[in-house]
Amino acid sequence: MLLEVRDLHVEFRTRDGVAHAVNGVSYAVDAGETLAVLGESGSGKSVTAQAVMGILDTPPARVTGGEILFQGQDLLKLKEDERRGVRGARMAMIFQDALSALNPVLSVGDQLGEMFTVHRGMSRKEARTRAVELMDRVRIPGAAQRVRDYPHQFSGGMRQRIMIAMAMALEPALIIADEPTTALDVTVQAQVMDLLAELQREYRMGLILITHDLGVVADVADRIAVMYAGRIVESAPVHDIYKAPAHPYTRGLLDSIPRLDQKGRELYAIKGLPPNLMHIPPGCAFHPRCPMARDVCRTDEPPLHAVSEARGSACHFWRECLHGPAH
Ligand code: SF4
Ligand code: MG
Repeated sequence: MLLEVRDLHVEFRTRDGVAHAVNGVSYAVDAGETLAVLGESGSGKSVTAQAVMGILDTPPARVTGGEILFQGQDLLKLKEDERRGVRGARMAMIFQDALSALNPVLSVGDQLGEMFTVHRGMSRKEARTRAVELMDRVRIPGAAQRVRDYPHQFSGGMRQRIMIAMAMALEPALIIADEPTTALDVTVQAQVMDLLAELQREYRMGLILITHDLGVVADVADRIAVMYAGRIVESAPVHDIYKAPAHPYTRGLLDSIPRLDQKGRELYAIKGLPPNLMHIPPGCAFHPRCPMARDVCRTDEPPLHAVSEARGSACHFWRECLHGPAH
């Protein structure tokens, strides 16, 4: 297994108390596999990814338990300079906002080139050649000229391609993309997602795709992990989830995607808001919003039940959920 996160816990200490951002998350990604991590904002999906990358804001964030095994090594046991060596070269991250992730005062050619001069000891000239090749590879028209341009001179979609090129530069084994297309127009979204999926296949990378939009992952993900209040509530092969969700929260997310075959139908919205992570409800954290909630849900926290060998659901009533609509 390329990456295995085991029982990860992350807390944020604030003046008002302790926010439990990640509460026992386990997931795994293999080479050539795409795992989509899905959930509303505040579900812990980005924080988990930042812990994997070793870029958590510490303090106030603190990993309080668990393991992050990457290529057989527990990253949580490495020193900061060893962590830095892993980042960029063996794993890389793509963010939602390319404009703030890229350096505004360096041309994109210089930024891409730096990956090769710093990490691979290439000359500036060689690095420039590689930068142009990479820009070509992510299909930036006129790469040989545009290599001298600055980030703000590119459209949002082109900037996102440059960030993909940066992440790909050293051919890492794992890429984590955090809402990589959320800020883009729908048509550009699809192009960028296709490019990412194509490169992922070509280089047999592991890809963790973080999104709040179940609609964008259907064609690219192998597995989906759905997060709620810092826990994984359902984890399954993508087709199983689309066929029949085994958790009411997943069902709610599915039913809130606009579908062409049901035009005119009013879209479902999950009622209420995700919980405050300083006061996660007892029992099942989803119970205040769950249309299927019963007494036991308010007191007993559901474990991740094995729905099948490849699938888990943290719902006491996953069987009912599988077999019928929850609302
Ligand atoms: Fe809903 Fe209860 Fe299942 Fe939680 S355990 S998702 S509250 S039915
Ligand atoms: Mg986020």
